[in-house]
Amino acid sequence: MKEYPGTTGLILNEPLLWEKGKRGRCGFSMPQRDVDSFPVNEGLIGDGPEFPDLSEVDVVRHYTRLSQWNFAVDSGMYPLGSCTMKYNPKTNERQAAQPGFAAAHPMLHPDLSQGILQLMYDLEQYLVEITGMDAASLQPAAGAHGELAGMLLFYAYHQSKGSPRSKIIVPDTAHGTNPASAALCGYKPTPLKSSASGILAPDDVAAVMDEQTAGIMVTNPNTLGLFEENIKKISDIVHAKGGLVYGDGANMNAIMGVTDMGAIGIDVLHLNLHKTFSTPHGGGGPGSGPVCVLKHLEPFLPVPRVIQQGDRYLLSENFPESIGKLHAFNGNVGVLVKAYSYIRSLGAENLKKVSQLAVLNANYIKEQLKDTFELAYDRPCMHECVFSDKRQQAHKVTTLDMVKRLMDYGFHPPTIYFPLVVPGAIMIEPTETESKEDIDLFVQSLKAISREASENPQLLTEAPTRCRRRRLDETAAARKPCLTG
Ligand SMILES: *Cc1c(COP(=O)(O)O)cnc(C)c1O
Repeated sequence: MKEYPGTTGLILNEPLLWEKGKRGRCGFSMPQRDVDSFPVNEGLIGDGPEFPDLSEVDVVRHYTRLSQWNFAVDSGMYPLGSCTMKYNPKTNERQAAQPGFAAAHPMLHPDLSQGILQLMYDLEQYLVEITGMDAASLQPAAGAHGELAGMLLFYAYHQSKGSPRSKIIVPDTAHGTNPASAALCGYKPTPLKSSASGILAPDDVAAVMDEQTAGIMVTNPNTLGLFEENIKKISDIVHAKGGLVYGDGANMNAIMGVTDMGAIGIDVLHLNLHKTFSTPHGGGGPGSGPVCVLKHLEPFLPVPRVIQQGDRYLLSENFPESIGKLHAFNGNVGVLVKAYSYIRSLGAENLKKVSQLAVLNANYIKEQLKDTFELAYDRPCMHECVFSDKRQQAHKVTTLDMVKRLMDYGFHPPTIYFPLVVPGAIMIEPTETESKEDIDLFVQSLKAISREASENPQLLTEAPTRCRRRRLDETAAARKPCLTG
């Protein structure tokens, strides 16, 4: 009983339940006993922890307060670049929670699972249509898992042609998971520098592409938020040497209904349903990273696959060239239901509008802030834009100081120090779900912070000061974690 019932404004502190309990308090009333009491065998209970005695209101306030310490998309703007922290309509949660979906057992006979099988079949078709690919697997559980699937597909394809090859080209603007996924499959990543304009130059790809190289992994739009404008030429160069092109499509939020990924030369693409298609993420909950492929890679897709026979849907393992299973049963099906619901409730026109608004919002922020912060690449961006702390360094203020201060203004910090190609990067992804008013408030806050950097830098180096916790020692937190509260 040290700090509480302390309050700072209405930021409520909260002790552990053990510190809060009082002997004899009770959260419920038992009905009068109508049988004789019987002594419990002490041996059965043992010397376990003594549980605190708490009233109902103690418990309700405890958990409500803890829940309010979380920052979430439901409480405010969360402009974390490369993450697409957008608002997810609640109706999609409601659909996934319907007992017919939530309580469906994966081992039920297909005759009793026609609804969910059809939903998965249709969702594959929708994703294929949205991306311009030919076939999909819904099994991978996350983006990086989709990449792993993609690399296994590359391997199986090249193996079927006589040699799996040994290398993969990975540009410096690819997501960090890309080289890791390639290496996990035994491929040696060949690093490739992006050009001065932040995108890949075809000549640079041609210089490293050879017949030992299985292909290239391109994040498009890349981690600078820029569209790889030379992608078609790059794909042609890679294909000419027998290679394949992997598209990291985690950022599909920027190009849905606009870019045909198959037509620009992508052979395998993964999507992040938990970014673009309405599953909340960030807390380690289930995600989904479907892989979409062109025809020539379809035979290698993971099994089981949902197939249609007449008007029935079945699960089939009968794909002899398949890379096998990637996930128990059929992937994270709850996430699939949300994506299906999201796609059906928006429809084709509005999915396209999602991307148009996401891109508009990012470009608006870029234009509003480019006189205040150094813009790494001054050209139209896609769904996110990347600034740096180059100008504020004159006042000995860093990116970290500025985003900590942003918390005092009520915003979750953007992604920082990533991508690595921009020193001191501040990567902002507003998403399409933020209103102009909220974006303006965000812009004004960052402008105010830049003014503070020159007038009173201490405000920044000591930030945050208006949050429940002041600046944490992040090194100690990582090296000596205190896990007991
Ligand atoms: C988020 C992201 C990934 C990784 O997705 P996970 O679901 O976190 O594994 C890969 N590539 C890009 C471009 C991303 O933004």
